[in-house]
Amino acid sequence: MPQLLTVDTDARTVGNVQMFVGGEWVAAASGETFAAVDPSTGETIAQVPRGGEADIDRAVAAAKAMAVEWQFTDAVARAALLRTLGGLIAANAEELAHLEAMDSGHYLAKARELIGALPLWLDYFAGLADKVGGRTIEVPGNKLDFTLLEPLGVTAHIVPWNYPLLILARSTAPALALGNTCVIKPAEQTSLSTLRYAELVQEAGFPDGVFNVVTGFGPEAGAPLAAHPDVMGITFTGSVETGKAVAKLAADHVAQVNLELGGKSPMIIFPDAELDDAVEATVQGFCSHAGQVCVAGSRLFLHSDIQDAFLEKLVERLKTAAVGDIYDDSTQMGPLVSEEALERVTKYIEIGKLEANLLYGGGKPQGTADGGYYVEPTVFTDVSNTDRIAQEEIFGPVLSVIPWSDEGDLLTQCNDSDFGLFAVVFCQNITKALNMAKRLQVGGVMINDWFGELPMSPHGGYKQSGTGREEGLETVHGYTQVKHVSVNLDGSLRAGSDWSGAPL
Ligand code: ADP
Repeated sequence: MPQLLTVDTDARTVGNVQMFVGGEWVAAASGETFAAVDPSTGETIAQVPRGGEADIDRAVAAAKAMAVEWQFTDAVARAALLRTLGGLIAANAEELAHLEAMDSGHYLAKARELIGALPLWLDYFAGLADKVGGRTIEVPGNKLDFTLLEPLGVTAHIVPWNYPLLILARSTAPALALGNTCVIKPAEQTSLSTLRYAELVQEAGFPDGVFNVVTGFGPEAGAPLAAHPDVMGITFTGSVETGKAVAKLAADHVAQVNLELGGKSPMIIFPDAELDDAVEATVQGFCSHAGQVCVAGSRLFLHSDIQDAFLEKLVERLKTAAVGDIYDDSTQMGPLVSEEALERVTKYIEIGKLEANLLYGGGKPQGTADGGYYVEPTVFTDVSNTDRIAQEEIFGPVLSVIPWSDEGDLLTQCNDSDFGLFAVVFCQNITKALNMAKRLQVGGVMINDWFGELPMSPHGGYKQSGTGREEGLETVHGYTQVKHVSVNLDGSLRAGSDWSGAPL
């Protein structure tokens, strides 16, 4: 099969691409396209179809037409296709990494790491296909009572731009494994790796219509997908505001929703913490992918006794953090994803200067390309937990340092947030660390470590950080519904004592 999407790494271009609907590579019904931009340079690298409602209708119809056949395809066959796909991802990892880097701003070494890990997700979720099921239930009388775990049907997957392939795989792989068909709407900033992934889906041999991709903008393609009455499950990862809009559209046709939204994760440093480890985790926490991570540890609760020593080490470490082009081997942090993102983060840095004390950064890193969307790692100290830079999700490399000294007050402040995605505790006293883990109102806690996403562990948020869980066995609930079956084993309706003479 000829490859439709080609990457020229020297010219840093991809060319014109098409989207994948019902097993065919097509332009948007309107014929319109939009530009994919390399955030390292600000240059256009591809023209992408600008999908709209007509394209969504076509994709959902294709997915619906295949829903029953895919549901009744042997689970082992569905699993085998997912494993084949995992193998093709491994075989094409270098190209996928370049696409992910050029389109989303992940520096190449990181993109290679991310894509290198991806087959693990395919393998884990393939394993679910023939291992999860319903249960038998003990009821009174001579009956066989059991449940069947069945797919939802057509599922929609609205994906953000920060980890395009990881987030695509972590929701579509379990959906497919459990017998659902999929319509994907990648973020408008990052369509390219998803389209290459779709080529690999086709090459793996998935039947036409099982996996469909419509590219385009949120209000034009995402909203009609979420609103489509034939879509029975929606997985959305992105901002709280858009997540609420998607949930409202889903409510109109009572579709099940999984929402993975924002965060303002506390990084909590106790006075007995291993300082070098805690400093490194802090840097990873707010600088990974330039802070454009939903779990980003953007609120640093630092014990007053160690504040000076910690901040000195933090500044020294930040001086060594190389910010630059995705293709530079020394780069440890790339650009923000778009001009709009740069404007938003710059606005928050100005707010921070009014609310708190700027300790480090705040500007454009030296030596970065003029057209790229770069910002320095930025640290504010003397932040109050009620400040905007401590309460609002900035989605950039900006850290708010909040001093603490009383443990009860610390917990109150950590939980005083609309978000509840994730928290990190650095503390050698395991009793204290576990007490924090138990009382923090968040969906995930790391102790003496920084976040590493894995397919085996559930991921999701409390409060406005979301509903439902991705990954782990918990993800099964997001892509299945329960059917209850009861069988009368007496052979005759009236033979059972509970029916004879029963009132109508
Ligand atoms: P960001 O993370 O940049 O704030 P969003 O949360 O708005 O972005 O976007 C995440 C995903 O949701 C993207 O695929 C985007 O196109 C899509 N999206 C944006 N607006 C809507 C909408 N009104 N309805 C459905 N999807 C949307």
